[in-house]
Amino acid sequence: MPRGGGSSIPVDRKGVNETLDKLMERSSAGSKTIIGHDNNYTHNTTRSSPFDNKDLQRDSAEESETDSQESDVSGSEGEDTSWISWFCSLRGNEFFCEVDEDYIQDDFNLCGLSSQIPYYDYALDLILDVESSNNDLFTEEQNELVESAAEMLYGLIHVRYILTTKGLAAMLEKYKNAEFGRCPRVHCCGQPCLPVGQSDVPRQSTAKIYCPKCEDLYTPRSRSQESVDGAYIGTTFPHLFLMTYGHLKPQKASQSYVPRVFGFKVHKI
Ligand SMILES: [Zn+2]
Repeated sequence: MPRGGGSSIPVDRKGVNETLDKLMERSSAGSKTIIGHDNNYTHNTTRSSPFDNKDLQRDSAEESETDSQESDVSGSEGEDTSWISWFCSLRGNEFFCEVDEDYIQDDFNLCGLSSQIPYYDYALDLILDVESSNNDLFTEEQNELVESAAEMLYGLIHVRYILTTKGLAAMLEKYKNAEFGRCPRVHCCGQPCLPVGQSDVPRQSTAKIYCPKCEDLYTPRSRSQESVDGAYIGTTFPHLFLMTYGHLKPQKASQSYVPRVFGFKVHKI
């Protein structure tokens, strides 16, 4: 599979294992803050991703039961499902659009991320479905850590991508379908919202939704959406989006709620 240069699998396996062990120790000692989804990763085995792990391949019947109410993910998992498609279709990941593989393969776009992500090269290979013969290199625990690193790496690529023309267009499609949820405020009359982060630094806060009508923030309705790191959406996205697609910006909410007691306005003291 084609790859952007610069991030091939290191040959020094012993060194790799030592590094991973160190990272594992550090990771398990620290607080468990990497956003963790259920790893019901049912990738087809014939692709033999380097991190294929039997334990991650949960019973798809069980999955379809739990997912059927909020998502139709389980039905869409075919043989050709890429990691990116799979990840974006997980329940709770509705805020993510699918990042173009071309964008990820351009090293320029990933500048600075390798120092922020443990197992960077492995996480990148996982995201891009790059085949490798290193199946036996990792323990189950290491596989899980690589999976978590891939989620974080994807999030940090995503926050950059959604500020590009293509990324904004991908998010536009989701916004049109109100996939980010609607404003819970009565006078906003079901205005579709946009996701936003309150910080651009990972692990500071979770993602929120921003209503362009009342210009306020709300907690996402879905509990699984609430666990998405706000830094994977960023503080800029909804505002750049509304500047780019100015015609979509709704009129500011003019109606406001007036508290009354027996029909009389409550005196402001
Ligand atoms: Zn609103």
